[in-house]
Amino acid sequence: MLLAEQRRLLCEYGRGAVQTGLVIGTSGNLSVRLGDLVAVTPGGVALDRLEPGICPVIDIEGHPVEGEAQPSSETPLHLAIYTATDAGAVVHTHSTFATVVSATMAELPPVHYNTMLLGGTVRVADYATYGTPELAANVRAALGDRRAVLLANHGGVTVGDDLAQAFEATRLLEWLCEVYVRARAVGEPRVLTEEELAAVARRGMTPAPFSRRES
Ligand code: 13P
Ligand code: ZN
Repeated sequence: MLLAEQRRLLCEYGRGAVQTGLVIGTSGNLSVRLGDLVAVTPGGVALDRLEPGICPVIDIEGHPVEGEAQPSSETPLHLAIYTATDAGAVVHTHSTFATVVSATMAELPPVHYNTMLLGGTVRVADYATYGTPELAANVRAALGDRRAVLLANHGGVTVGDDLAQAFEATRLLEWLCEVYVRARAVGEPRVLTEEELAAVARRGMTPAPFSRRES
C-alpha cells in the first residue's frame, strides 16, 4: 500500500479531531504529503470512521494514484497549499470558536502572543462555496507565509511540516479564537501592537516560513 504510514496517521489524527471536539459529523478533512504524492481523507466520511484503505492517494495535480474512494471535496484547497509551499500536512476543521471568528471578523485580533506560533496575525480568507477552486485560491492568498488561516463563515485551515504539527496548530488556532471570543464577553480586549508582536518574533517564537515551490 502506498503511503501506508501517512494513511494510518490520517486515521489516528481523524479520531483525535473528533475526540477533542474539533470536528463533528463529516465536517473537516486532513492530508499528508510525501514528495509529489498526497494521502487525503475521503469525502463524506466521519473522521473517526476512517480506515487506511479508504484514504485515497493522489498526485499533487489531483490525479488518482491509489484507492477507490472519492478524495475530500476540499482537495483543491489542500493541493493549492502543497503546490505553493513545501508544507507536509494540512488540517481543515469547522471547530466552534474558529467558525465564530470566521463569521464575524476580517482577522483574528492578536490578543495573545502565542499567535506568533502560527506565524503572525491570522487572516480570514474571503468567502467562497466549499470545495471550489475559488475557495482554494482565497485560502492560499490569505494564508501567505503563515501556518493558519480562517475561512469566512466556514472554519479554519492549518499547515505544518507533518500532521502532528498541523493538528497542534489547529488546536492552538481554536484556543486563540476561544480566548478572543471569551475576552469580548468580559470587556473590550486590548490588542497587541505591531511592536509587541515584533518583540515576540525576535525571541524566536515564529516558525520559519515554508519554502515556496511556485516559480
Ligand atoms: P469532505 O467530507 O468532502 O472532506 O468535506 C467536509 C468539509 O469540511 C467541506 O468543507
Ligand atoms: Zn469545511
